[in-house]
Parts: sequence; C-alpha cells; structure tokens
Amino acid sequence: MAEEYKALIGGEWVGSTTGETMDVVNPATGDVVAKVAKCGTAEVDRAVQAARKAGPGWASKTVAERSKVLLNLSRIIMEHHEELAKLETLEHGSPIRKTMNFDVPLCAEQFEYFAGIARAMTGETLPVGPWCTSMTVREPLGVVALITPWNFPALMVVWKLGAALVTGNTCVVKPPSIAPLTTLKLVELAMEAGVPAGVVNVVTGPGETVGEALVSHPDVAKVGFTGDTATGKRIMSIASANVKQVGLELGGKNAFVVLPDADVDSAAEGAVWAAFFNSGQVCAAASRFYIHESIYDEFAEKMVALAVTLRVGDPRKMETVIGPLAYKEHRDKVEWYIESGRKSGAKLLLGGQRPDTDETRKGFFVAPTIFGDCRNDMEVMREEIFGPVAGLARFKTEEEAIGLVNDTPYGLSASLWTKDVRKGLALAGRINAGTVWINEHLIIFCDTPWGGCKQSGWGKDLSKMVLDEYTMTKHIYIDLTGERVKPWYGLLK
Ligand code: NDP
Repeated sequence: MAEEYKALIGGEWVGSTTGETMDVVNPATGDVVAKVAKCGTAEVDRAVQAARKAGPGWASKTVAERSKVLLNLSRIIMEHHEELAKLETLEHGSPIRKTMNFDVPLCAEQFEYFAGIARAMTGETLPVGPWCTSMTVREPLGVVALITPWNFPALMVVWKLGAALVTGNTCVVKPPSIAPLTTLKLVELAMEAGVPAGVVNVVTGPGETVGEALVSHPDVAKVGFTGDTATGKRIMSIASANVKQVGLELGGKNAFVVLPDADVDSAAEGAVWAAFFNSGQVCAAASRFYIHESIYDEFAEKMVALAVTLRVGDPRKMETVIGPLAYKEHRDKVEWYIESGRKSGAKLLLGGQRPDTDETRKGFFVAPTIFGDCRNDMEVMREEIFGPVAGLARFKTEEEAIGLVNDTPYGLSASLWTKDVRKGLALAGRINAGTVWINEHLIIFCDTPWGGCKQSGWGKDLSKMVLDEYTMTKHIYIDLTGERVKPWYGLLK
C-alpha cells in the first residue's frame, strides 16, 4: 500500500482541496511507492498568505538566532541520515552509496555553511560627505518561491532554502512532482529544528499549475528556480508581468577538453566521473568531449575500459554505481537521443542499450553509452540529454577547441585537462561558462559560486554571493548638519 504524503501550509499537513493525488514511482522497479497531494492554485494562495503572515516574526529574529536554527537542522539531518538517504534512493533511483555518502552529508554541511556565512553579512558606510551618514543595510525580500528539479531532490532545495531562510525570508517550496518525498521530510525536520510554522511551506503539484501560480502571485517577491531552460524562459516571461526577481539555474551542455599534454589516465577517469555520476542527470555533467587528435584513440580506449566496469543495478545495493534514470519518459527521451546519435553516424563505442539483468529489467535503466567520431552539429553534441551518454570528438588546434566549446547556447561549465596550468588558465578565460575546472570536472563546494551564463541562466547559488540573491540592499541617508542649507540649495534658490 503506497504511503500518502500531504503538503505543508502554515505548519499544518494538508491534502489538496480536490482530494487529488499524484503517484511517486520507484524508477528501479516501476512500482508506485507513495501518493502525494496534487495541490492547485487555492493551496498556493494559502501557502503564500501563511508565508506572508510568518514573515515579520522571522525577519525580526537576529541572524544569530536564525543561524542557530539552521545548525540544529544540520545536526537533525545527520540523525536521520539513513532514512533520508533511503528515501531519495526510493523516489529517485540514486544509488544508496551516493545518497548516504554524498547527498545527505552535503545537505547537512550546506545548512552549516549558510548558518556561518550569514553571521558575516554586513552593510557598508559610504563616504558621500562630512555632512551626512550614508549607509546600506540588507533586508529580506519577503516571500520567496523556490521551484526545484528532480535530479538531486534534496540538495537542490537545500541550496536555496538555506540561503533564503538565514537571510530572513519566508518560503513556499514547489518540489519536483516525480520526487517530492525528501523535500517533505526535510521540511518536517526543519520544523523540529525550530523553523516556526509558516516560515517554510511546501505545495506539491504540477509545475504548470502550482509552479505558475507561484511565479505569477503578486505577494511572491522572488522566484528561485532550478530546472530546464525552456521552463526558465516561461518563468521569466510570467514574472515580467509584475517585475518579479528571478534566479535561474538552468541547463548545460558541458564540454570536457583534453589537451595533448594531459595526463590521459587521469583525464579518462575524470571523464567517466563527469559523464556518468548520477547517471548523467547532472546539470554540470560533461557530455561533449573534445580530445586532441594525438591522444584521441588512447583516451577513448581508456574511458571505455573504465566505464565498462561501472556496476549498473539495484540502487539499494552499496556496490551499485549507476542506478536507473529518474522516470520512464525521461528514459525514453535519453534512448531517443541514443538513436539519434546512431543515425547521425557517430560510432557507438559502448552501451547504447538497456542493461538486461534481473536487477534492471523492470526499472528505467540505460547503460553508460559512449559515442566516438562525433561532430558538433550532431544532436548528441548539441542537446542537453541529461543521461549517461557521452560524445567524443577530435580537435587539431587550441583555437579550434575553444571555438567548439563556445559553440552552444549554454554556458554552465567546462573543463580543461592539461599539465600546463598557465595555458589552462589562459584558455579558461576564453570559455563562456560560469565555472571552468582545470584538471577536474563536476566538483562543487558550498564556498564557491554556482551559476551559468547564456541560456544556462543567471544568478548564483552557493558561496557568499548567494546572500545578494536573497536580500535587498537598501540605502539609508541621514543628514547630520541639522541645517537648512542642503547640497541642492543653490539649484533651487
Ligand atoms: P523542469 O524545468 O521540468 O522542472 C523543474 C521544476 O519546475 C519542477 O518542480 C517542475 O514541476 C517545475 N515546473 C515545470 N513547469 C513549470 C512552469 N511552467 N512554471 C513553474 N514551474 C514549473 O526541470 P527538471 O525537473 O526536468 O530538471 C532538469 C533540468 O534542471 C535540467 O535541464 C538541468 O540541467 C537543470 N538543472 C540545472 C541546475 C543548475 O544548477 N544550473 C542544477 C540541476 C538541474 P513538475 O515537477 O511538477 O514538472
């Protein structure tokens, strides 16, 4: 019997007014494992009003008080480490070795990080003149809507929630419909940690209704969104109606460039990590690989030899590295791109099919797939596939490599592999992307800003830059002369 989950509004667990629910499916087996309230616009409005009501109380707490709540939450998350990890594995199919060792500890660490950086948040005094004090103060924005994707269900909400809460905002979260359970568990723990009723609300339901109602709601001050570029464009257009702030962390088609002097073993290992971690369902996953022609064959051979050893199977087993894709339609889409790669003349070096074992037969699995001899005009090299599919292409000159890397509407991340770090640094400056790694790929810290350019969005998650995303800087000017003669006096009299 599938467990029923409700939305959280004003500290109360509530079903949808229509009584409708949505199924949550375990992608490793295809079984329905939970039913979640399918909310609509009425619940969105109630949640926004609850967040508005809770706003002044939460904003008037000191940063130190809010930080303490986040530190509590961080500790409580680790007390529920295994439970949260199993829940994410269940709803998303992420292998348990990843959810136990990566997602849950990182969620705890990130709340700690936000609790810490907020204590160092300051305004400025500005040297306008001796006759005044001119200063800036930071204020919360008010009610913020946080709309999150399914690829790291827990982490993606924590990135936004930690920053929004510690800066004094109240939140309405819209989690991904296919994987909302970890978000619901996290907010239950947030209340246990001392987050007051109404400060965080969660409205489960479809993006087209619940998401859009949040984006267009006049009492929502900002939308923090992570998801598909097409959805980001739609959100921008709706938000423009009332000039609402939006933060957009969107898609990517991330390049991995191996220069002729690179350590090929290290680059091949990095490539397997970058392409196949989380079954490639990572905004920063490398999916187009440009390898200097002098080392292409050696690199391709080594990458394939390493990828073939990745264990694909039951995500509940600690030895599994590659789980299923998160839902059936997504698996079908990834397979469509694999077919497109075949048809376009790319050479299939590995995978390309569903693994057929007792552990995988019922779920939405796709084997790690590597295409060689790719060209930049092929769909596998242009579109964000968001699955375990890598395309390899040769280049002759650095100039050509940089041209290929920048030949995309996206600008999220890229990596360069070379022993010549000075050259790497010079080339990094020519790549249009929010992050460029040198001799590394897909490594993200709380301390470092995350966010892209071009159609990968704008704004930053993580790092101290995120404080700017969730606060308004207000300028306050105080006349100190006490006299009637003001700087503008001569212009008037
Ligand atoms: P979607 O854009 O489909 O969904 C993201 C969220 O938006 C979901 O909660 C979804 O709800 C909601 N949504 C859908 N339509 C609307 C709408 N019209 N108005 C408001 N909200 C809406 O993305 P995915 O969940 O498929 O996530 C994958 C994408 O996220 C990839 O493109 C990936 O690159 C990107 N991503 C980017 C990251 C970054 O840092 N740049 C990090 C992680 C992912 P529902 O689930 O109900 O459809």
